[in-house]
Amino acid sequence: MTQQKAVTEQLQAEEPRIGAFICECGVNIGGAVDCQAVADYIGTLPNVTTAVVNKYTCSDAGQAEIKNAIKELGLNRVLVASCTPKTHEPIFRACVEEAGLNPYLFEFVNIREHCSWIHMWEKEDATHKAKELVRMGVARAALLEPLQSSEVPVTNKALVIGAGVTGMQAALDIADMGFQVYLVEQGPSIGGKMAQLDKTFPTNDCSICILGPKMVEVARNKNIDIMSYSEVEEVDGYVGNFKVKVKHKPRYLNINECTGCGLCTEKCPVEVPYTEFNEGIGTRKAIYVPFPQAVPLRALVDKTVCIDCGACIKACERGAIDMDQQETFSELDVGVIVVAVGYDVYNPEPKHEYGFGLYDNVITTMEFERLINASGPTMGKVVRPSDVKPPKRIGFVQCVGSRDKNSNIYCSSFCCMASLKNAQLIKEKYPDTEVYIMYMDMRTPFRMYEEFYNRARDSGIKFVRGKPAEVSETEDKNIIARVEDTLTGDIMNLELDLMVLSVGAVPNKGTEKVRQILKVSRAADGFMMEAHPKLKPVDTTLDGIFIGGMTQGPKDIPYSISQGSACAARATRFLAQGKALTEGITVKVDEDICVSCGVCAPMCPFQALGMEGGKLNIITALCKGCGTCVVACPTGALQQSHFKNEQLLAQVRNVFAYGEV
Ligand SMILES: Cc1cc2nc3c(=O)[nH]c(=O)nc-3n(C[C@H](O)[C@H](O)[C@H](O)COP(=O)(O)OP(=O)(O)OC[C@H]3O[C@@H](n4cnc5c(N)ncnc54)[C@H](O)[C@@H]3O)c2cc1C
Ligand code: SF4
Ligand code: SF4
Repeated sequence: MTQQKAVTEQLQAEEPRIGAFICECGVNIGGAVDCQAVADYIGTLPNVTTAVVNKYTCSDAGQAEIKNAIKELGLNRVLVASCTPKTHEPIFRACVEEAGLNPYLFEFVNIREHCSWIHMWEKEDATHKAKELVRMGVARAALLEPLQSSEVPVTNKALVIGAGVTGMQAALDIADMGFQVYLVEQGPSIGGKMAQLDKTFPTNDCSICILGPKMVEVARNKNIDIMSYSEVEEVDGYVGNFKVKVKHKPRYLNINECTGCGLCTEKCPVEVPYTEFNEGIGTRKAIYVPFPQAVPLRALVDKTVCIDCGACIKACERGAIDMDQQETFSELDVGVIVVAVGYDVYNPEPKHEYGFGLYDNVITTMEFERLINASGPTMGKVVRPSDVKPPKRIGFVQCVGSRDKNSNIYCSSFCCMASLKNAQLIKEKYPDTEVYIMYMDMRTPFRMYEEFYNRARDSGIKFVRGKPAEVSETEDKNIIARVEDTLTGDIMNLELDLMVLSVGAVPNKGTEKVRQILKVSRAADGFMMEAHPKLKPVDTTLDGIFIGGMTQGPKDIPYSISQGSACAARATRFLAQGKALTEGITVKVDEDICVSCGVCAPMCPFQALGMEGGKLNIITALCKGCGTCVVACPTGALQQSHFKNEQLLAQVRNVFAYGEV
């Protein structure tokens, strides 16, 4: 007989002795629920040894009261009626465990969200409902069983997916703590979107001047293995023991021989628009180095346009080019995964918003960043696309693809500041240019941001509180923006030489594939979902998998870097300890009832079930206790511990077993 089975049987032989602790949470619950009346009622129920009210059950004093009651009254089950289990269940489980009780002999009833908050003005009804919910909890608590979580070893290596500024920061921090990191980047260079920017707010430092050294630091770090031009194809396993398959796309040259000298590029006769780094402005060759500061500084061939003329092969003195190169794969074992796949800028073209895609002189802020960048396609000269002349009147339109129920309802958070930055850069470079910003509200939170906004106002930039209702083009390709300044009521027809759409952020197009491979939850806006918006902003609901930067939603560089470091700190807890605890609530199979039909296996979102030799195999470390398979099983052979049929039915039957309370 296992130790756990013996403990369970001993417990079942004992009478349940339940302690119920009803929390007022100050007036949060106590203001709407008569907690004393609830405690008095619960105290009369069978199996309840004590029922008391606490001001704050989660406080030190509240927890001490629970521990004392366990010891002094011999409680063998504890129920707390308070707020949400999402934040507080771990606290109370730890509390009862410290007093010597198995942490799963704890029952949580939420009388805040379910009673005091939604019945705020109906005290009597809120109290009545609280009594019923707690009574149902008592019925379930009596049937709770002790469970054990198990310990698994952790491979002391990390995988970071995406090498923008977030992923690079996470990789550097993990590597600096002494652990090996595989940094997988889908593009030919690390750096992400920040490498494309000209200056960065709020200090207006040259973006690549501050990012470049970080990219070199990543490349130099002996603990970081950069896998550029590579993608994660498969991930199996669980916290501490992930098996990862990475695809390395062919660059059609030997990366160890290429020096990025560019001789091949000079000789290549094929020239195409440079859509990747320069946002389609200017051209590049079929063989090219992504940008001068690329890491690794290596060329690659775009086979979709290469004409196989062989000029690059002849030009390359190191014989690096290999047109027969095939994709290859690596298998990695890692203990933790950080996802930092970033974002794409919103594309206004399909809906031709504000004439984008119809009128030449309507561009996006990202295109503007490349135009004003000294190493960009125009060497930093801002020109309008239609006639390559410098614009004298430029208008920025805010919230394009953000705060709009027809596209994305969220605020992209960085674009007000990005337009303030670009408007100021224009004023510095071309002081005679008229610059307008058309906006709904200017959003400039965080340190030095409001001062940045004030500087922009003082520099003569004109702010128009309104968005263009109509946009048209004149014969000489000027843009007419019809806009109402809602502060003055003036309706203006602004004639502009160039109109710049301040586009927001959307999830990177690769996000969905990575999300599905890892089985991370998706938020309503399409970005990946954190475990808790306030308390666990970089954790996911999956142990050992973390998300940071734009992967989790729009944010600027300082916030992205902070999240990169946060991911590293959260991830290295596992690496440093060398072990992880798995969930105690898992599914169990009754082999006498299971007919090995296999219906359940594909249902499991965590791939914890498989058929081996015609029999169901449960990988307990992978099971998250979600219960999906239990519902799918046609014979009822699967039972989820802690949520067994008899435990749930006891709760349900209890609703009908009592009359007036
Ligand atoms: C026009 C504009 C101007 C801006 N100006 C500023 C500014 O001045 N100051 C500021 O603070 N912020 C600014 N921002 C915001 C800034 O760009 C972001 O905060 C920052 O780039 C986020 O970094 P990230 O690493 O999270 O994402 P990204 O920079 O998007 O990096 C993600 C990386 O992951 C890679 N990747 C994607 N999918 C995969 C995959 N499946 N496998 C492997 N790799 C993958 C991508 O190729 C990329 O390299 C601006 C944004 C825009 C659009
Ligand atoms: S073989 Fe292809 S990449 Fe090389 S020079 Fe010719 S077109 Fe350019
Ligand atoms: S940051 Fe400014 S421009 Fe961007 S969505 Fe928010 S309010 Fe609109």
